[in-house]
Amino acid sequence: MLACSPQDPADSSAGNRVSTGGGELGAVEGDDRDRVGHDDALFSAFAESWIEELLAREPEWAIYQGRYEWADQVTIPDVASRAARHEFLLASLDALARFEPARLTPLRRAEYRVLKNRMESMLWYQDRFRNWQWMPSVYNVAGPVSVLLNTDFAPEEERLRLVSARLAAVPAYFEAARANIDRPTLEHLELAVVRSRGTLAVLDDDLLARVDASGLPPGERQRFEERLVAAQAAIEGWIEWLEDLETRLSAEGAARSFRIGETRFEEKFALDVQADLSARELYDRALQEQARLHREMDGIAVEIWSRHLPERPMPSEPLERIGQLIEHLSDRHVAIEDFVPEIRRQIPQLAAFVRERDLLDQDPDKPLTVRETPEYLRGAGNIASVSAPGPFNPGAETFYNVTPLETYGADMAASYLREYNHWILQILNIHEAIPGHYTQLLHANRSPSLVKSLFGNGAMIEGWAVYAERMMLEEGWGDHEPELWLMYGKWALRVVTNAIVDYGVHVLGLEREEAMRLLREEAFQEASEAQEKWRRATLSQVQLSTYFSGFAEIYDFREQRRTELGDRFDLRAFHNEFLGYGSAPVAVIIELMEE
Ligand code: ZN
Repeated sequence: MLACSPQDPADSSAGNRVSTGGGELGAVEGDDRDRVGHDDALFSAFAESWIEELLAREPEWAIYQGRYEWADQVTIPDVASRAARHEFLLASLDALARFEPARLTPLRRAEYRVLKNRMESMLWYQDRFRNWQWMPSVYNVAGPVSVLLNTDFAPEEERLRLVSARLAAVPAYFEAARANIDRPTLEHLELAVVRSRGTLAVLDDDLLARVDASGLPPGERQRFEERLVAAQAAIEGWIEWLEDLETRLSAEGAARSFRIGETRFEEKFALDVQADLSARELYDRALQEQARLHREMDGIAVEIWSRHLPERPMPSEPLERIGQLIEHLSDRHVAIEDFVPEIRRQIPQLAAFVRERDLLDQDPDKPLTVRETPEYLRGAGNIASVSAPGPFNPGAETFYNVTPLETYGADMAASYLREYNHWILQILNIHEAIPGHYTQLLHANRSPSLVKSLFGNGAMIEGWAVYAERMMLEEGWGDHEPELWLMYGKWALRVVTNAIVDYGVHVLGLEREEAMRLLREEAFQEASEAQEKWRRATLSQVQLSTYFSGFAEIYDFREQRRTELGDRFDLRAFHNEFLGYGSAPVAVIIELMEE
């Protein structure tokens, strides 16, 4: 049956794959059927063993995925580790080239494309994008340590031993980081400083109290403390070094521009998004969608103006009347101290609505815990996010991270409260939690494809969450209230404007002032939101475009299916099937669903 050698680590799991894959072979006849099945088995064995090797080679990535066998090892980001990664990826692409995609069944063919993309992306990021050189914010030791401290995968002592081993490598880690940095951007320097201060908050002296309360023998406790002190000193040294560099580069005007330019942007877009469009085509579509939303919102504004502002004459300019109405409606929001509790209160309501309307499958055994965002995840305007367990430990807790607004200072907090007003807060919860990111990730972790569960496509993930917002409103969440739809329009404009600003900043030389005008006057954003968006556009590339590209692909595909199937179209079945393919690129899922 299987051609892989007995010593191949993927042998046993590949055997399982053959039996689960058997059902996909129905369309293939006679001898071809055996040959295709054989190719599938070989490919699955290859994918499994490649993933195992990658996990062992990238222990930090493995920790995030829930595999802890190598968690005591720290990848020192030096020339040697980059050379090893380069060789490994070239050999991996050679090995993958032995397979003929046309001879694989659809699910395996999708995995082939996801794997190839992953290998090419890793090579591109390291060899061409070279962010390890100019993005000092990529150096962060707190993330893996936090996972080890916060995930209950082994006894406390065992986990503290892993943390201790990682702490021992921190000085060498930052020494290598310093050697890598060459003409960074000021924006990434500043972010690195903020993140590193957050790292110190994770690796603070409270950690020693936890070690003292554990069952670690005194010798090990002592060693933990020594390593912690050395790690803290190394991080403080790194922060000081970054601040000196920032001062010097600012004075000399010698920092790198945060704009990556058209060539790099199109390359990154092709690898990250994997849509059929180019970045330029998506930008043009975003401009069209922006105009369409403005027309739709103006219709609502004219309809409900007198209900809310009966004393005030309605302005003749559409953008002005939409803006004034949104401004007025934004007064309705929770008190600052109720921000996190209100989010906590809404989650079960959303779950109940999805259940009652039969919109898609949920899993009551995997509850969502709302918590305050851990400090190391704050810093880049991250008000809300979801931390989900990877496919290797689906039993672990999923967190909905919410940053208490008190941490932002009075003015900023007031602005955020208006931004996340009565209506938008509901849409935020749909996006982040139910049936957005949290629900999608639950389905992805149930997907039998390790390849797609591990190498999630950002455009599919964000696109789904954005799609979920519109779908919930269409299905009657909020009772078709025009105010909610107007605010939804504002939220949707945010996604569209993200794509416009992203391309504008990196390719068209969009300046801060014009970007702020676009965000504030044409997308109706509060000052805080617009400022954070500008900052994010300077710190990231392509990521801001993924929301719109994924949404447009999913929404259009659903409408196409609805037209094709007519009365036989079943929304719940559509959603479950779509999510059942895991976080694969939308284009790949569409191809599979159409077969
Ligand atoms: Zn999202």
